[in-house]
Amino acid sequence: MKFSTTVVRAGISPDPTTGAIVPPIYETATYTLEEVGKNKGFDYTRSSNPTRALLEKNLAAIEGGKYGVAFASGMSSVDAVMRLLSAGDHVVSGDDIYGGVSRLFDRILSRYELSFTYVDTSQPENIVKAIRPNTKMIWVETPTNPLLKITDVEAVSKIAKEHNLLFGIDPTFATPYLLRPLEWDVDLVVHSTTKYLSGHNLLIGGIVITNNQDLHEKLKFMQKSVGAVPSPFDCWLTLVGVKTLPLRMERHCSNAMAVAQFLDNHPKVEKVIYPGLPGHPQHEVARRQMKDFGGMISFELKGDIESGITLMNNVKLCSLAESLGAVETLITHPVTMTHTEVPKEVRLKRGLTDSLVRLSVGIEDVEDIIADLEQALGKVK
Ligand SMILES: *Cc1c(COP(=O)(O)O)cnc(C)c1O
Repeated sequence: MKFSTTVVRAGISPDPTTGAIVPPIYETATYTLEEVGKNKGFDYTRSSNPTRALLEKNLAAIEGGKYGVAFASGMSSVDAVMRLLSAGDHVVSGDDIYGGVSRLFDRILSRYELSFTYVDTSQPENIVKAIRPNTKMIWVETPTNPLLKITDVEAVSKIAKEHNLLFGIDPTFATPYLLRPLEWDVDLVVHSTTKYLSGHNLLIGGIVITNNQDLHEKLKFMQKSVGAVPSPFDCWLTLVGVKTLPLRMERHCSNAMAVAQFLDNHPKVEKVIYPGLPGHPQHEVARRQMKDFGGMISFELKGDIESGITLMNNVKLCSLAESLGAVETLITHPVTMTHTEVPKEVRLKRGLTDSLVRLSVGIEDVEDIIADLEQALGKVK
């Protein structure tokens, strides 16, 4: 099956009792046994649930993988992946990763004797230099948040194999429509399904996909033992949302390209970061490994923090909100919203300036998005 067929059909067959084309929501905590020792494959919803099982099958197929394990959030999915490690293990991680993930690493998992070294993985040799005798995993986000750095997945996968390390990747910004990490033998793919996969700002969820049976069994064990499971209703909403993934992504990408070009020519804009622009430092890698360049744009305004705040307070169509990857265009000011915990020196060193703005370009008519940005930029001094 081709990609667009897989997203609509994979794992889904008519409900055996009624023929319903949309699978029912099995909103149940437990299942009655026919007799002692005899159930129909389900015993308790923390361990397994038919709606969740369908979602896991469907998302694994969309990713081109064998096994999917669904969690209550992107964060609990990353947490489950890290729990594959043991006290004393070391991880080489990207430096420009989702704020919640670095908080999990530095403030929680580090207390359980896992250690993390952060490097710019857009230069894969930085990873090699950071490998220690106790390194067990390489952790990469691509594109990164919010600086949209791109990592060469094939190159990092080779490094992981050479050093016998697990390679985990979070391509939430790319989605399986744009990037196919399993084709380069990545061990673990994590998505926050909150974003493009469900796509409608309706829910929080996550998935881990792997081709490795042993890792799959460990993750299933973690899922039932820790219990960070998504509700059947949220699984169902994700199953419905994902069916339009290719259509939405096409529009996200074409809208983002037009918005990036508009911003790139605007006198109040200092710099636009979009992997689709030829000036992006990893434009060639992005072009080679991704189908298109995605729906996320970051840009710096001329001026200081006030410029950013003025823009935020004057947009009308773009919603001033955290999160990304849904049908509505969202605008975020990392310094005052998502990255308030990062010390200023660290922030500036990473390129996260006071006037940096992140845009999750939605699927509205692109002329309306541009008109809104244009009028709000007009208010910036
Ligand atoms: C949102 C996000 C997460 C966390 O996912 P939640 O569903 O919010 O828990 C992790 N990684 C990336 C890249 C994200 O965008």
